[in-house]
Amino acid sequence: MAENCIFCKIIKGEIPSVKVYEDEKMVAFKDVAPAAPVHVLLLPKEHVENIVACPAPLLSHILGKVELIAKETGVAEKGFRLVINTGADGGQTVPHLHIHLIGGKELGWPPC
Ligand code: 5GP
Ligand code: ZN
Repeated sequence: MAENCIFCKIIKGEIPSVKVYEDEKMVAFKDVAPAAPVHVLLLPKEHVENIVACPAPLLSHILGKVELIAKETGVAEKGFRLVINTGADGGQTVPHLHIHLIGGKELGWPPC
């Protein structure tokens, strides 16, 4: 847990969130400012700054739950997008690794 990390505070229950999945290693909750009808963030409970700093087995664990969370949020059939913003140029605003799962409508491309 990192001091002053908003996602660590959510994981500790100090800030409320709408959780859609949780296990011993990770949590998934709804984004507070959704970019689409379905917008969920998947993240490790351990404070890991970004994808580069994340141990491969932990990343693999999180990715292994994508199918389940996509089914539970109703986007598995029509499709969805995963986004991992990394660093300043990548648009990362919260320095605790999180994977955006976005769907529920036809998404535009490119994203920039
Ligand atoms: P980033 O820009 O770092 O890739 O994504 C950060 C995401 O976290 C943004 O989509 C933002 O809306 C979301 N977010 C920021 N603060 C909170 C919060 O307190 N609760 C929730 N549920 N989402 C948050
Ligand atoms: Zn954190």
